[in-house]
Amino acid sequence: MKVVVLGAGVTGIATAWYLAEAGHEVTVIDRQPEAGLETSFANGGQISACHAEPWANPAVLPKLLKWLGREDAPLVFRLLRWDPALWAWGLRFLTNCTPGKTAINTERTLRVALHSRTCLQQLRQKLSLDYDHLDKGILSIYTDPKEFDHASRAAEFMNKYGLDRQVKSSQECFQVEPALSHMRDPLQGGIYTASDESGDAFKFTQELAKAAQKNGVQFRWNTPIKALAHYNGLINGIVTEHELITADSYVLALASYSPILAAPLGLRLPIVPAKGYSVTIPITDPAKAPQVSVTDDGRKMVFTRLGDRLRVAGTAEMAGWDLSMTEIRWKMQIERVKALFPECGAFDAAEPWAGLRAITPDSSPILGTTPYPNLWLNTGHGTLGWTMACGAGQIIADLISGKEPAIAMTGLGLDRF
Ligand SMILES: Cc1cc2nc3c(=O)[nH]c(=O)nc-3n(C[C@H](O)[C@H](O)[C@H](O)COP(=O)(O)OP(=O)(O)OC[C@H]3O[C@@H](n4cnc5c(N)ncnc54)[C@H](O)[C@@H]3O)c2cc1C
Repeated sequence: MKVVVLGAGVTGIATAWYLAEAGHEVTVIDRQPEAGLETSFANGGQISACHAEPWANPAVLPKLLKWLGREDAPLVFRLLRWDPALWAWGLRFLTNCTPGKTAINTERTLRVALHSRTCLQQLRQKLSLDYDHLDKGILSIYTDPKEFDHASRAAEFMNKYGLDRQVKSSQECFQVEPALSHMRDPLQGGIYTASDESGDAFKFTQELAKAAQKNGVQFRWNTPIKALAHYNGLINGIVTEHELITADSYVLALASYSPILAAPLGLRLPIVPAKGYSVTIPITDPAKAPQVSVTDDGRKMVFTRLGDRLRVAGTAEMAGWDLSMTEIRWKMQIERVKALFPECGAFDAAEPWAGLRAITPDSSPILGTTPYPNLWLNTGHGTLGWTMACGAGQIIADLISGKEPAIAMTGLGLDRF
């Protein structure tokens, strides 16, 4: 079967790889000159399957009120303009903050994330991909006693889903990650998930794109997609500036741009862009930089070693598709690295970056069919797109091939909205 994948981020490339493995004739279209140049370019690097809590949860509401109007808050809503889609999304987000909905959404996200981690490990073995990966786990740290207490109770709850979240005292945290012993604030404790991993999503995407090309996948770079043409209830081509690119099936993997191209088809995808920032710092003293990926839960920042670089990433700004960077937001990331890992790197050579997460109101991705039988969705992965990319790509390839996917699809499709 001929399949066109729209988007060459980590999601689109993983989908293309699995489709080619299944014997399909695959073409990937992207407006960029190569793979992984948008949201997959400089993210937090965490494969955080065991930290797959939805953004929408009962604890977020008091935090949102506390953060309101603060330019340095981990989450900034710029809701001043009248954008019906954003307000409708906000209302749906609020209805997902109940304990019952949070439990349902957590299970859905975990289902994809855990499967995806296995797929990533299998791919790594098969293809010997080099992407600065580390399988030393993820340690979430807490400087606020109340937040640590809450996280410790949440860990017990999450272990009921088969996870292994280990509650650690501050001394135990320093044993897990000795570089933290230089931190300036007093540490209350942490939650460690040994089975989680980290690595550079951009390098991975590039390496997998090369492997996919060897497997016969064709790429159409520098090709902005204008529209999806349809006739008689089927997609019959991808409209680009110069031509109509046709196939038997099409996969929409355009992250936060997916709703823009889906809307003219009558498909309302409840996805909004949430801008996040990262800063990449060259490591000058390896002993003072972490090997274990660290999450500073109170500040919603992650710290990941990628070879000889330290990446700090996080914060979210709901401000449409605007990618401009507010200096205060990336500079506070550098300040936090200085506080946790003083003297680990060349801070004056730090490289800031911003990208748009594709967020659904329930924090689960949108995977699977649409009312157009030859159009498939692989989008809305939010904060966990790197974590879910391989599993989601494999699931979509199986569905297109008419095979039973490896995990149940209940609650993952567009029909849940
Ligand atoms: C600051 C930050 C930190 C993050 N940290 C983590 C983390 O630690 N772990 C994790 O799992 N996830 C993380 N994420 C999320 C993760 O990076 C994303 O979910 C993931 O990269 C999305 O991949 P994608 O392929 O769906 O999207 P993208 O990488 O954005 O790919 C979409 C592609 O579509 C193309 N495109 C869009 N519109 C058009 C068009 N009209 N025509 C042609 N091409 C088009 C773009 O050029 C792009 O290449 C983070 C995100 C951010 C912003």
